[in-house]
Amino acid sequence: MSRSTSSEATVQLELERHPYRNAVRNGRPDTVVHVGEARIPIGGGAVAVIAGPCAVEGRDTLLATARALSGLGVRMLRGGAFKPRTSPHSFQGLGHEGLELLAEARELTGMAIVTEVLSPEEVPLVARYADVLQVGTRNMANYRLLQALGDCGRPVLLKRGMAATVEELLCAAEYVLAAGNPDVILCERGIRSFEPLVRNAFDLNVIPLLAELTHLPVIVDPSHAAGRVDLVHGVSLGAVAAGAHGLIVEVHEQPGAALVDGGQSLDLAGAARLLDGVDAVAGAIGRRLDRAAHTVAA
Ligand code: PEP
Ligand code: MN
Repeated sequence: MSRSTSSEATVQLELERHPYRNAVRNGRPDTVVHVGEARIPIGGGAVAVIAGPCAVEGRDTLLATARALSGLGVRMLRGGAFKPRTSPHSFQGLGHEGLELLAEARELTGMAIVTEVLSPEEVPLVARYADVLQVGTRNMANYRLLQALGDCGRPVLLKRGMAATVEELLCAAEYVLAAGNPDVILCERGIRSFEPLVRNAFDLNVIPLLAELTHLPVIVDPSHAAGRVDLVHGVSLGAVAAGAHGLIVEVHEQPGAALVDGGQSLDLAGAARLLDGVDAVAGAIGRRLDRAAHTVAA
């Protein structure tokens, strides 16, 4: 065996033993995950925006928010039907009914649906309605859930655990990849810190760092990172400038009346301003905001 062939064999062996061997960059090109019937790209040169309320609260408010966001050109709608709440006495989401409402919003607007799944048993149900299954920060290390997402037939949006290292996040992604699902989108949503003035510490480092370590797309959740609406615009633009492939951002038609996370939710005017800002920053770094034609007045 020639010297170069034997060093290639060593590299191959190292890859085969790598703890996140499917997620690791290893010279692979960026993965582009395609969402929904419209095959909306997340990854590569486009900047994707997912927007909507924290929770599905009811038909009228969900459909009004979806319609307005769609009118702004947003192509993916977020909204929790199953909500992982810190207190068991807080609103837990509408469950199955929430999924039905999300499907109705998709029917009405053509938007793809992103919603959270909390347990392995609920994966088939949520996958019947959602275009992307979200794993929240509290479940990043729920390995049975991650394995169950291996054959759900939908892309997975995997949020970083609130106290997880970058390697732990990548190993969590590896569980989904190793179980047979290649479509994983990573999400930085802030990590715990000692600072009480913000909900979490937004870790901007991980955006360029993950671009080195993995081929998977990386998006950012500025809403849960900051926990306050006045910071969402700036954090979002910083994330896009640093190379994030997209945003998942909380928007409510009436944040003051929201049942969950109103204090960190943009109103529709704020969402419109954010899209324009993201458009400008994406253009400045040679990327492009993935935005449908504006069809309906917000
Ligand atoms: C959410 O996006 O609705 C959510 C609960 O976020 P996280 O898991 O990041 O707290
Ligand atoms: Mn929320």
